[in-house]
Amino acid sequence: MPAIILDGLKIRDEIFAELKTEVARLAAQGVRPGLAAVLVGENPASQIYVKSKIAACEQLGMAHWLHTPPASISTEALLNLIRDLNNDNNVDGILVQLPLPKQVDSKQILEAVDPAKDVDGFHPISVGNLVSNRPGLVACTPAGCMEILRRYKIPVESANVVVLGRSDIVGKPMALLLLHANATVTICHSKTRDLPEVIRRAEILVAAIGKAGYVQAEWIHPGATVIDVGTNKVSDPVEAARLLQNYPERLEKFRAKGSVLVGDVHPDAIQVAGALSPVPGGVGPMTITMLMSNTVKAARQRRAAKAQVGARF
Ligand code: NAP
Repeated sequence: MPAIILDGLKIRDEIFAELKTEVARLAAQGVRPGLAAVLVGENPASQIYVKSKIAACEQLGMAHWLHTPPASISTEALLNLIRDLNNDNNVDGILVQLPLPKQVDSKQILEAVDPAKDVDGFHPISVGNLVSNRPGLVACTPAGCMEILRRYKIPVESANVVVLGRSDIVGKPMALLLLHANATVTICHSKTRDLPEVIRRAEILVAAIGKAGYVQAEWIHPGATVIDVGTNKVSDPVEAARLLQNYPERLEKFRAKGSVLVGDVHPDAIQVAGALSPVPGGVGPMTITMLMSNTVKAARQRRAAKAQVGARF
């Protein structure tokens, strides 16, 4: 029996409906959550990502600002912009779209963001809060994966979970969130020995390595839950044919368009897994959703709390 599809678009719609209610509640207290996006230069992929983030703010009735300094900007000038945004009380979330140009010290920029406005969850203070299981703003993609598991009622406590990939933005925070949810977590990376064997023991697999269709269907424990974070654009016809040979409709679309998005898990895994997040339409929509959720949370924690204190005195 094919896997249950873990539908990220459906969950996004549910969360957006909840956020709209929350935005209206904050509006009644005179608070309009707002996101400031900083997009340096003219990277076409970054432009598309930022555009969708701004569109999501629009949809939820949140304030938004887009800052587009030129690709030639210095670290110092960008630091000044971040300081201005930190000091602007209307700004609840600051999003610095990565990658930044080579001459800019990305680490210094991300560390300059006020942790209370760190809606990407990349600041060392946010990471420290996550490590020690304190409340805080959590990186959006792993937070989105947890929402998928939670809303589809996939049991996490005591489950054997394999996280494939150990990046700072996906693998590591993902493993910590699962650990705090009482899973038994194994983190795998490029130096892991006998990867197929390790993956075979997973009741839940989270794959985030950036390699199209790398995890083979036969590595997956029958009935396991698969969260596929990978977002890989395949434009080589031979590779597309290898990955999609059992999906003639998708292959047809590839031929018409010249490219297709494939996850890190081979599409045939759908025949073995118990539940699976598709690519596209699984984890992808959750990242922006959690960015919106973090911005509303930041507004609530930073401003609504203050407004209530102010009202009492
Ligand atoms: P990354 O920074 O490149 O990290 C990749 C990780 O995978 C590294 O830890 C690497 O191990 C490991 N790895 C690479 N090849 C491997 C192999 N053959 N076997 C085992 N481990 C291997 O990537 P990332 O930023 O975490 O992103 C991972 C994927 O998720 C990408 O496809 C990316 O596009 C996607 N992504 C999607 C979203 C979304 O919104 N849906 C958001 C973020 C990322 P080492 O540490 O040993 O090098």
